[in-house]
Amino acid sequence: MTATAPKSATGKPRPSHLFYQGRQRRPLIDRAEGIYMWDVHGRRYLDGSSGAMVTNLGHSNPRVLAAMREQMDKATFAYRLHFENEPAEALAAEVAREMPGDLDRVFFVSGGSEATESCLKMARNWALATGQPKRWKIISRYPSYHGSTMGALGVTGYDPLTEPYAPMMVEMPKIPAPTCYLDRDNHSMEERGRRYADMLTERIEREGPESVLAFIMEPVGGASTGALVAPDSYYGRVREICDRYGILLIYDEVMSGAGRTGRFLGADHWGIVPDLVALSKGFASGYAPLGAMVAPPRLVEPVLDAGGFPHGHTYAGNPLACAAGRAVLREILENDLIANAAARGDSLLTRLEGLKARFPFIGDVRGKGLLTAIELVADAETMQVLPPELNAYARVVELAYERGLIVYSRRTRGGREGDHIMVCPPLIVTEEQLDELFESFTDALAAFA
Ligand code: PLP
Repeated sequence: MTATAPKSATGKPRPSHLFYQGRQRRPLIDRAEGIYMWDVHGRRYLDGSSGAMVTNLGHSNPRVLAAMREQMDKATFAYRLHFENEPAEALAAEVAREMPGDLDRVFFVSGGSEATESCLKMARNWALATGQPKRWKIISRYPSYHGSTMGALGVTGYDPLTEPYAPMMVEMPKIPAPTCYLDRDNHSMEERGRRYADMLTERIEREGPESVLAFIMEPVGGASTGALVAPDSYYGRVREICDRYGILLIYDEVMSGAGRTGRFLGADHWGIVPDLVALSKGFASGYAPLGAMVAPPRLVEPVLDAGGFPHGHTYAGNPLACAAGRAVLREILENDLIANAAARGDSLLTRLEGLKARFPFIGDVRGKGLLTAIELVADAETMQVLPPELNAYARVVELAYERGLIVYSRRTRGGREGDHIMVCPPLIVTEEQLDELFESFTDALAAFA
């Protein structure tokens, strides 16, 4: 039980029939507005991680709430095989406008794992429809996270989440994620980036190129790697390798998409046009469960011609979630929040870098836009990890929580060792609010030191 365990009026822990992944308890939420949240005891928290990097737009945006209310008065659900709906049609067109290259077909789902699953299945259906039935392997990276359903776990490189289910799932081939900051050699970062990309070629050759269907990656890493950004040389090279072997390139932008990194997609930083894109989280900013797979006609048309895409989820494309997603997208675009993410992100990275001088256990500071993280280590020179029993990643989160600041953490380096803390406030954050965030964060780190 933590210091923040919820209490009933009698002072005893509040009983609950609910359970999630552990025994940790949290207070009941009362309300939320902008970047702040209040529990039922009136305590205020600064949402310094946008939940789990979700609430890009911040809480209780009046325009989104109005759009949802308006839709609620019309129809909250209409099954897609019985009716089409205007919010879904309009949102698909608006998403297509923001996507690079020929990515203009949108398939709605209700979350990130469903978006990943849809990409994996779409890739396979495309291979079948185009006479390539031997292609089925999807190479991914280690560490990585692509979702909690069995297909998504098969391409996920994060031991604590995958190991229990190993006998029950198809484990796909993995190559190392480009953790160039850990390498101690004489090569430049760009050379290292090329080297990590070339590991894809080696793996494709080892697997047999005719059996490989796709490569899936997060352009800016999420919780499994703590906002990992590869050297610029990596991105174009990976695209070239996929093209050379006729392999689809899937970008999992569930966390990095919808403006979080300072461009609409992470891919946009490097001018990459992926073959499939998974979106969720900030896409609906927590207002409704919503995600999407975005694909080009060159993949979709052969699949539909060959008899259709045998995949879908009941809640997909429901009018209420799409009305929320549409209002979120408009607010993000019309208020220039992507530019704000870029500017505040630069400021955030500079501030985090500045903490290194005071806290020698901060080994690496990384990220793009408002997707940033610090890695905590025993020795910043060698990047040796802290003893696992210290539980540094969880302790810093608790110390921040006690100070009214929410940040996010996970074990990094595949989940077995290493600690990182993600600092990812909503895209609406101001410079003054970053001052406030930093005061609490610095205080939490000082308490940990
Ligand atoms: N892909 C990435 C990159 C993610 O960060 C996540 C969630 O953290 C997912 C997929 C899974 O999304 P969801 O939790 O909505 O199923």
